[in-house]
Amino acid sequence: MKRIYLDHAATTPARPEVVQAMLSYFTDSFGNPSSVYSYGAEAREALAEAREKVAKLIGANADEIVFTSGGTEADNYAIQGKAYANQEKGNHIITTPIEHHAVLDTCRWMEKRGFDVTYLPVDGYGLVDPGDVKKVITNKTILISVMHANNEVGTIQPIAEISKIAREANVCFHTDAVQTAGHIPIDVNLLGVNLLSMSAHKLYGPKGTGALYIRKGTVIDKYLHGGEQEKNRRASTENVAGVVGFGVAAEMALCELTREAARITTLRDRLTSGIIERIDDVYMTGHPVKRLPNNVNLRVGYVEGESILLNLDIEGICASSGSACTSSSLDPSHVMLALGVPPDQARSTIRFTLGRMNTDEEIDHVMETLPKIVQRLRSMSPLIKHS
Ligand code: PLP
Repeated sequence: MKRIYLDHAATTPARPEVVQAMLSYFTDSFGNPSSVYSYGAEAREALAEAREKVAKLIGANADEIVFTSGGTEADNYAIQGKAYANQEKGNHIITTPIEHHAVLDTCRWMEKRGFDVTYLPVDGYGLVDPGDVKKVITNKTILISVMHANNEVGTIQPIAEISKIAREANVCFHTDAVQTAGHIPIDVNLLGVNLLSMSAHKLYGPKGTGALYIRKGTVIDKYLHGGEQEKNRRASTENVAGVVGFGVAAEMALCELTREAARITTLRDRLTSGIIERIDDVYMTGHPVKRLPNNVNLRVGYVEGESILLNLDIEGICASSGSACTSSSLDPSHVMLALGVPPDQARSTIRFTLGRMNTDEEIDHVMETLPKIVQRLRSMSPLIKHS
């Protein structure tokens, strides 16, 4: 059976060009970038080239990019590094209740270490009101962290407006752009951020590689201690092959971004309206317009999201009921609850996230298959009165 992969927010397949570019850095050009001889120089050059490419994707300078082991490390580095660097100034952090756990759990951990964290409210679409940010800033605020777009519902935040407020208050601003980098245009100067997290495996690069953009002049403590790699900003021998793959993925994403975002938005809208037309009691979650081009998040009344997923899997369709990182938990998603979705409805969620290989035919197939699955599940559901 041909599988249809619709879970690109969880991860993406590496492009063949990415894999090809990485290969020689495992074997022929295996040098340690810190070594003085020619093997080291080769690896250093590869890192420099990739750094340029990743920087270009977000309109940054190459020396503002620090490679990490992924989005999670970039988020931890941003929050812990900034908070500890600014302890003298204050202990107050502002974030949202819909962040990825890489941010949320780091903030909770910081609370246990004497930091105060304010979790801003979001509206029913998952949007932060910049006015609310202004209201909660105090003279102890040292960091604001608001994600660029949410991984579950796809809502894109007004980052430039929030960062303006942060700048006026002289507070450092971090955004988790793991779901947006390579998918929608990013210019760190237009967004006005100090720190921005990225992850290669969400943009057709390898897993285990990411980056933190650190605006020139932003004071931040080191997070991983040891060697002086990455201009003494992150210890550990660089993942040269991974970083090379990230560079190629970033370069190709930038090249295709406008065209691909338009194509996927069309597929997304067709899938959303097609499902809503064919199945009763289905509602879209997240913002209808300020939304990632590839995200379809739906609540399907009277059925558990998990049951739909298992049945879709039998038909060869891979989707998700929320974040891949918490999919083993049956608790309702923290994002849905923060949006005000009642817990029983929060469990009725399915998320399709589209990618570059998805076709019109695949979308047609999902639109044909899903109604049959939902009808079957509803016919067995104790939540519905059957006549
Ligand atoms: N932030 C967001 C918004 C994500 O969606 C993810 C992964 O799903 C991460 C951070 C973590 O990234 P990584 O898997 O590279 O650690």
